[in-house]
Amino acid sequence: MNSKTRHVQCKRCLDKFKEKEIYTIQQFQYRKSPPYDWTKEFFNIMEISEWDSFCEKCVNYYGKISHAIWEKYCM
Ligand SMILES: [Zn+2]
Repeated sequence: MNSKTRHVQCKRCLDKFKEKEIYTIQQFQYRKSPPYDWTKEFFNIMEISEWDSFCEKCVNYYGKISHAIWEKYCM
């Protein structure tokens, strides 16, 4: 085992990945829409905080569904 590489677990798919490849919902503050306050509330309902770790695949998935719900129900 390589002890230098720390691994973390994705909260959604439970895959393990390298620490430097962590994604969180904080990256959504850079999207044009929906507003980040709305995004935080959306994930709060899903019991996801700004500090939860996700792999790239899962954070992309959450980005897609939150944007789709915003467009469909909140515009
Ligand atoms: Zn994942």
